[in-house]
Amino acid sequence: MLESVTKDFSDYSTLEKFEFEFYCDCCKKAVKTPVLEFVSGFKRKRFLNGDIKKARDIIYAADHDSAFERANIEAMYELNRCEICGAMVCEECTVYGKNLNGGVCCKKCNESEK
Ligand SMILES: [Zn+2]
Ligand SMILES: [Zn+2]
Repeated sequence: MLESVTKDFSDYSTLEKFEFEFYCDCCKKAVKTPVLEFVSGFKRKRFLNGDIKKARDIIYAADHDSAFERANIEAMYELNRCEICGAMVCEECTVYGKNLNGGVCCKKCNESEK
């Protein structure tokens, strides 16, 4: 399995579409990323014999991987990376620190700094 930018994520993907949800490392708020369709001629075929099914599974696995990679990038725009502990946190858990040269950190790190 590929690595997620957050510690926790859910994979709601089906054979029709790729759907992922990422969770803020701090408050666990869910961040949904755009759903991507599994675009393949195989999708329309209802009855697949062994070999074709195998081929579909290979294409699906590759598409799933790239959809997950895209979703991670989308999640990175929604979340901020704490410059101290490296956690990916949502806007509410982000502290824009003055002593970090305009950098960002998470609530937890901000509290332990004091
Ligand atoms: Zn949060
Ligand atoms: Zn932190």
